[in-house]
Amino acid sequence: MGNSHLHRLLSAALATEEIEISCQECYDALDSYAEQLLEGNDPEAQMPGVTQHLKQCFCCEHEFEALMVMLHEAAGASSTDP
Ligand SMILES: [Zn+2]
Repeated sequence: MGNSHLHRLLSAALATEEIEISCQECYDALDSYAEQLLEGNDPEAQMPGVTQHLKQCFCCEHEFEALMVMLHEAAGASSTDP
């Protein structure tokens, strides 16, 4: 009887709106998330879990903002004051 297995798959598919990832998962994805954002892509489409986590986790949001500042400075070295 593979019924319960099928049910689990269906439940998982239906539950995609509530994506909960851990801080570790968020942190691991943060690099590519920020890069996608800087490249003008839409990381939310690929990593909706990260977007959602950033909205509800102050720690990771802070981490993300720091990362964005770092990447901005790395991308535009001309903005660094002497
Ligand atoms: Zn977090």
